[in-house]
Amino acid sequence: MSASEPASKRRRWRWLAGAGGRQRRQEEVILMMLCALSIPSILPFGIYRLLQGSWISAAVDMALVIAMSAVIVDVWRTGRYQTASLWVTIFYSAGMLVTVYLRGVSLVYWVYPTMIAAYFVLRPSVALTINSVSLAVMVVVLVAKLEVVNLATIVVTIALINLFAYIFAYRTGLQNKELHTAVELDFLTAVGNRRALDRRLSEYAQERRPQLESSLLLLDLDHFKLINDQYGHAAGDKALVRLAELMRRHTRSSDRIFRYGGEEFAIIATGAGLNAAASLAEGLRAAVAAATLMEGHPITISIGVAYMDKDREPADWLAQADKMLYAAKQAGRNAVRVAESSYGGA
Ligand code: GH3
Ligand code: MG
Ligand code: MG
Repeated sequence: MSASEPASKRRRWRWLAGAGGRQRRQEEVILMMLCALSIPSILPFGIYRLLQGSWISAAVDMALVIAMSAVIVDVWRTGRYQTASLWVTIFYSAGMLVTVYLRGVSLVYWVYPTMIAAYFVLRPSVALTINSVSLAVMVVVLVAKLEVVNLATIVVTIALINLFAYIFAYRTGLQNKELHTAVELDFLTAVGNRRALDRRLSEYAQERRPQLESSLLLLDLDHFKLINDQYGHAAGDKALVRLAELMRRHTRSSDRIFRYGGEEFAIIATGAGLNAAASLAEGLRAAVAAATLMEGHPITISIGVAYMDKDREPADWLAQADKMLYAAKQAGRNAVRVAESSYGGA
């Protein structure tokens, strides 16, 4: 695959992107696709009913077509799909019930795709709730028009497709969650990986008013190459795992730990200004120096600390912390250096 291919692919799909070049969420695209698909599925029937003079049925069909077009435009422009998904499902379910009420049981086939579509755009429990209410209403609508056996067949088959769709959607949701976690986990130390760090930093940068100020710590093992050379890579790996465990013990549950690179780690100290972050760093440095990360060989770390200033960007925080880490190494290692809060100086 040539290096330019991803770029050209990106260009080809750029028209799909949201406002400001934002990448659209999968849910947005699915909702718009479902609405778009429903238009050619319903419009011919609406026209047919119009020609037949069935005004109310035609009005229901046309209302659905217009509403779906409006949803597509709105989601396309704003990217807000959650409330739209709920309303589309409710609107569709109501439309379907009115159609069955007006035109009788022959229209019941529409219930199946409509109910399955709900699981594509809503949480499984919400889709199941809406569909259960729809089914109950449908039983009331049809009970006088059908023999018990026929009604029971419809109810059982609808209940079954809901059960299967629910299980499928629920399992897919769980798998997505697991996949998401796995993609952001460092395989060796089970802390967050670089991707997780980047995501968390940019999330923090985008929070307009973060509830808590935060600071960034960059940690690097001292003379780790020597340890690897002397004791082997496996022993080095074991020391990294032990260091990660030590960091977990010495941080609060709201702090986030990441493996930034080979033997470099990052900590986002949540709720910590520079002073609090400096004492966390100092505590960690001392704890590592006192611990036995490797039998027969003392291991130390150096730490650079930077304030996550909201007027700056993640790249600035990382650069600042890295600069401080370098200063700690220059100062002889086994040391902590803290940036001044002003980014102009330091
Ligand atoms: P300094 O005090 O300046 O940081 O010295 P250093 O030797 O630690 O620095 P440097 O960054 O040059 O070397 C990092 C070494 O870390 C190189 C490599 O042998 C080791 N390393 C990187 N990733 C891993 C890993 O996943 N496992 C092990 N065992 N070692 C690693
Ligand atoms: Mg290093
Ligand atoms: Mg090192």
